[in-house]
Amino acid sequence: MKKPSLRTIFISLSLLIILINPNPVTAHFFPNISAIPSSLIPKSTIWDAFNNLVGCRKGQKSEGLSKLKKYLHYFGYLNNSYSDFSDDFDDRLEAAVKTYQLNFNLKATGELDAPTLSHIVLPRCGNSDVVNGTSTMNSGKPNGGGNSTFHTVAHYSFFPNRPRWPPSKSELTYAFLPENELSGAVRGVFGRAFERWSEVTPLTFREVAAFGRADIKIGFLSRDHGDGEPFDGVLGTLAHAFSPPNGRFHLDGEENWLIDGNFLNGSPRSAVDLESVAVHEIGHVLGLGHSSVEGAIMYPTISSGQRKVELANDDIMGVQELYGSNPNYNGSVSLTPRGERDTSGASRVEFSLLAGRMLLPWSLLLLRLFV
Ligand SMILES: [Zn+2]
Ligand SMILES: [Zn+2]
Repeated sequence: MKKPSLRTIFISLSLLIILINPNPVTAHFFPNISAIPSSLIPKSTIWDAFNNLVGCRKGQKSEGLSKLKKYLHYFGYLNNSYSDFSDDFDDRLEAAVKTYQLNFNLKATGELDAPTLSHIVLPRCGNSDVVNGTSTMNSGKPNGGGNSTFHTVAHYSFFPNRPRWPPSKSELTYAFLPENELSGAVRGVFGRAFERWSEVTPLTFREVAAFGRADIKIGFLSRDHGDGEPFDGVLGTLAHAFSPPNGRFHLDGEENWLIDGNFLNGSPRSAVDLESVAVHEIGHVLGLGHSSVEGAIMYPTISSGQRKVELANDDIMGVQELYGSNPNYNGSVSLTPRGERDTSGASRVEFSLLAGRMLLPWSLLLLRLFV
C-alpha cells in the first residue's frame, strides 16, 4: 500500500485540529452604543485592579505585583527566563516598567505612577510589544524609514526577520470562520479595513468562502482557543494576528463590537470599534509590529469607544518598506506625520536584557515535525 505523503499527513492533521479545537463563538455585534444591553457592560474589567498599585516602586512588596509581572511577561517586557512571579518589586520589574514607559511615551521613572497605570489598564492588542528583544516599539529609525530626505520620526516595526507575503501573492484572499455566521454588515467592516491597506500598497484583498484555503483566516473566538494565546473576556486583550505567511487573525468574541463606526466619545466602557481593531490587526497580518506613535494604527492600545481607522504616515512608511507603494497612491509621506508626537528624546531603548514571545505559527511548527 502506498504510504501517505507528508503533505497528506499535514493536511489531515490540520483538519483534525480545526475540527477538534475551534471553540467558535457567536460574537456580540451592535449597530450602535445604545443597543448594548446593560447586562453586557461590566462594572470593572480584568486589569482594573492594577490601579491599586499606584506609587509602587523597587524594593516594595505589594499584593497584585505578581499579576502585573504576568501582564508584562505576556507582552514581552519580562523575558522567558524570568520566573519570580511573586509580589516583590525587583530590578527586573523596574527595568520592564521603564521600557513600557518609553514605548508609550511616558516618563521613564521605573515606578508605577498614575499615568503608567492608567495606560496599562487600557484595552489593547494581544500581540507582544517586545519580541525576542529585537523587534519592538520604538525600534524605528529616527530619520524617516531610511530616507534621510524626510526628517520624520518613524517608529514602525516588523516581526523578527521581517516576514512578508511573497511577491507572487499580490492578491491575498480572506475568509471568515463559518461557525461565526457573520452578517454582511460585519463582513463589510473588514472589507473597508482591508481597503485602507490596499490603497497604499500594490496588494489587493478578496473575500472567499473557502476558509481552509484562504490566505487570511478571520475568526471570533473566546478564551482558550487552541493557539496558546487565550482571550480574556470583555476588554483586556481584544484581538491578535500572526506574522506572514500564517494569516490567522483572531478577535475576542466576548467583546461588545460596534459596527456602525459612527458614535460619539463617552460611550459605555465596553464598546470597541470593530473597524479600528481590524485595521490594526491587518497590519500584523501584513508583517508590521507595534509602533510607539500614538496616532498610528499600529499603536497597541485603544480606548474603549475610540475610533481610529485612518493609516498614519508611520503605518504607510512601514508597510511600503515591505511591499512598495500602490502605483495609484497619490499621497506622499508628509514632513509632519499626522498625530505624531516627536518622542525622539525618549525613544532610544536598550533591549539587551529583554527577550519576548512571539505568536508562533504553530502550523509551521507542526510541518517541521514531519519534515
Ligand atoms: Zn497589535
Ligand atoms: Zn488566537
